[in-house]
Amino acid sequence: MSAFDYDLFVIGAGSGGVRAARVAAKHGAKVAVAEEYRVGGTCVIRGCVPKKLLVYASKFAEAFEDAVGFGWTSEKVSFDWATLIENKDKEIDRLNKAYIRNLEGAGAELIMERAEIVDRNTVRLASGKKITAKYILIATGAAPFIPRHLPGHELAISSNEAFHLEKLPRRICIVGGGYIAVEFAGIFQGLGVETILIYRGEQILRGFDEDLQAHLSAEMQKKGIEIRTRSDVSKIEKSGDGVRITLEDGAVFGAGHVMFATGRLPNVVNLGLENAGVDLTPHYAVKVDDYSRSTADNIYAVGDVTNRVNLTPVAIREGQTFADNVFGGQDMKTDHTLIPTAVFSQPEIGTIGLTEAQARKDFAKIDIYKTSFRPMKHTLSGRDERMLMKLVVDGDTDRVLGCHICGPDAGEMAQLLGISVRLGAKKSDFDATMAVHPTSSEELVTLRDKWVAK
Ligand code: NDP
Repeated sequence: MSAFDYDLFVIGAGSGGVRAARVAAKHGAKVAVAEEYRVGGTCVIRGCVPKKLLVYASKFAEAFEDAVGFGWTSEKVSFDWATLIENKDKEIDRLNKAYIRNLEGAGAELIMERAEIVDRNTVRLASGKKITAKYILIATGAAPFIPRHLPGHELAISSNEAFHLEKLPRRICIVGGGYIAVEFAGIFQGLGVETILIYRGEQILRGFDEDLQAHLSAEMQKKGIEIRTRSDVSKIEKSGDGVRITLEDGAVFGAGHVMFATGRLPNVVNLGLENAGVDLTPHYAVKVDDYSRSTADNIYAVGDVTNRVNLTPVAIREGQTFADNVFGGQDMKTDHTLIPTAVFSQPEIGTIGLTEAQARKDFAKIDIYKTSFRPMKHTLSGRDERMLMKLVVDGDTDRVLGCHICGPDAGEMAQLLGISVRLGAKKSDFDATMAVHPTSSEELVTLRDKWVAK
């Protein structure tokens, strides 16, 4: 008979928490999971999944235009935002229920209440009930950050609200230059909203390969998105149904909404972490070691609350590894290197490994192979859109260190490239692989000439 109510108490039923709970339960642990909002977390409820559905929706406008070159004519098409949101919400409800079923099916108990830590082995639910557990897992995720010093910041929305707008504005201003900013810029612009992106830095998607940044920026602008770099908002005021935005350079313009996509902060406030000796990093994330263990040795944390690599599959892997280690007798660390990723901008990005700049810093001799071409579909559609593919290769060993793609299906390609790059594929392996014709990805195995700066 255990001295505790549960072997594991998980706080947060998002991607990381749910995976950890299910795996721990399958290993025979007695598990409870507390969730204050909806099971599924950011990814399922108001992140990756609904975002991708909106991306699909926003691509139809171009598809209708492109169809003309292939002989199609269509009656006037129209779009209804309310239908999209209703159907998207139905799908999210379905996934939410599936997550609940899977959790309970695995034998974990779900408690739909907020939980806070009282001491190293005790949590208190919002109802006041106290529960003890041998291990506690913090999987509370992160929430959008909107700079509070900014006059009028309370008038801004984040991606959370963007998923539930009553109607589409005529114009939107998006602040930020990261994943969420570029993805939502594509969504709104595709749905016919005049879209302005305000970014404080030199070039959007800081940290990505420079060629990718420049390529995406140019393609987004071709689609009609106004990108203002080296620009920041100085105040927001209410104006009629919308907002008036003043930039630091004095420019003033109106929009239906201003959406901040200026990063996310770990959900650690009022969790009672200090009661258990759980320390935070300087960026207010739960500090963990390579095993996702916090500074209290029976309390672990996975996912965005640890601010390591804030991606759903990473949280899932961290949750799985934690549960396999603690309840399955394994001794593994989550490998945070060589993570393939996609940005569902329009056009899409798929990337893995080192950027050219990172590689040049760490390796003596770097060879670059790259191409930019018009995807075959656009020979008939007439659309002026190009695709970029780039390989970063270690000139001494011939190993492919990075692969960067911007264009249709780049995310799908990144998943498979991830395997080759992890396996240590050389450029000669790419060359020896027969092309799949006619595809865009065949360019990756037919890049023969090193790129030379002109
Ligand atoms: P990011 O960290 O990607 O981008 C934040 C952006 O906001 C940066 O451009 C940053 O500028 C800017 N910014 C930060 N603070 C301020 C400020 N005070 N004023 C003005 N600009 C500011 O965060 P996101 O919110 O876009 O996304 C959060 C995380 O979610 C991502 O890092 C990613 O890990 C994950 N995500 C993944 C997706 C995917 O896999 N497809 C999709 C969406 C999100 P600067 O560059 O100068 O720091």
